Amino acid sequence: MKKNIAVIRGDGIGPEIVGQALRVLDRTAALYGHEFTYTEVDMGGCAIDKWGDPLPPEMLQKCVASDSVLLGAVGGPKWNDVPGPKRPEKGLLRLRAGMGVYSNNRPAKIWPQLASASPLKPAIVEKGIDFIIVRELIGGIYFGKHETMTEGSEKIAVDELRYSDSEIERIGRIGFETARKRRRKLCSVEKSNVLDSSRLWKSVMHRLSAEYPDVELTDMLVDNCAMQIVKNPSQFDVIVTENMFGDILSDEASMITGSIGMIPSSSLGETSCGLYEPIHGSAPDIAGMDIANPIGTILSAAMMLRYSFDLSDEADCIERAVGAVLDGGYRTADICEPGCRKVGCTEMGNLILEHMTKG
Ligand code: NAD
Repeated sequence: MKKNIAVIRGDGIGPEIVGQALRVLDRTAALYGHEFTYTEVDMGGCAIDKWGDPLPPEMLQKCVASDSVLLGAVGGPKWNDVPGPKRPEKGLLRLRAGMGVYSNNRPAKIWPQLASASPLKPAIVEKGIDFIIVRELIGGIYFGKHETMTEGSEKIAVDELRYSDSEIERIGRIGFETARKRRRKLCSVEKSNVLDSSRLWKSVMHRLSAEYPDVELTDMLVDNCAMQIVKNPSQFDVIVTENMFGDILSDEASMITGSIGMIPSSSLGETSCGLYEPIHGSAPDIAGMDIANPIGTILSAAMMLRYSFDLSDEADCIERAVGAVLDGGYRTADICEPGCRKVGCTEMGNLILEHMTKG
């Protein structure tokens, strides 16, 4: 199979972790007889420095024209004072909107080898943590009107939270379809006791539910959900929620599984061209030190193979190799525990390559 992958290395640790993921993709191609070519794309702070824009239109075009996009991370303190529309994060929002990826899917699954890294009590972890958060990605408050004005002697800031029922329906369908492929339990999370947008959300989910009688739909208020994720995470199979709630809940979910450095994500829309990235940021505090954990990015590449290219055996091969390296006791600093062998970013990449064999 021939595929062209747009590669956004980005800022901070981005280039280091993406470098390791590309080595893993190259090894996969060699093992299974595929041809992956890469188109380099500038986005984030590095694009601001080079082009004065966090995502110049021709860079977005390269992504849209590719078979899928692999992203490290963008942003950092160097660009903290850049004005709003030119901030590195705006590049990411424009990329998601430009690719039409409206669904962000983040697995919250505990690796048994890292169970003790979870901050939750063993009695809670032992019940199992294996759920997915399906987050609406290109609507809601992050994409509404943002305004700061002065009224009398006061400054006032307003952020608009807006959803249409078609936006809710398409993400709701992804939630139901995802649940169908898993344990058939969907929890719709909103704040319908306060927000109109949430009341619309809830009504659309219930309307859709009639089309998915095999999926059990429950509703949960977002504040309760934040508590339940730490109190009893085993109750969840698939959570579907709006953009800002999903942003916050998925970070919380990532913490209970151990390390932010381990977790991949996929963002998908109507086509198979998806955006794959680890859930963490550019970690400027450890950039350039070769100590970042590349596994979240490597597993994101595996998700790309599975969900965009339909290459499940190849994805399994990568995930098995990650498991074998963890079984061997190798850990990057963020997940290292007494008795384990601490390795850097490149060495972790080397070890994963060594353990990749055709299943
Ligand atoms: P962060 O995720 O970059 O870092 C939080 C903490 O986790 C830091 O201590 C960091 O060292 C550690 N960490 C993160 N990834 C790691 C990895 N792979 N291996 C080991 N340790 C890791 O979050 P932050 O510090 O809040 O943000 C830093 C910058 O990243 C900001 O500019 C922010 O806007 C940006 N950011 C970008 C994205 C993205 O590109 N998708 C997402 C979130 C934050």
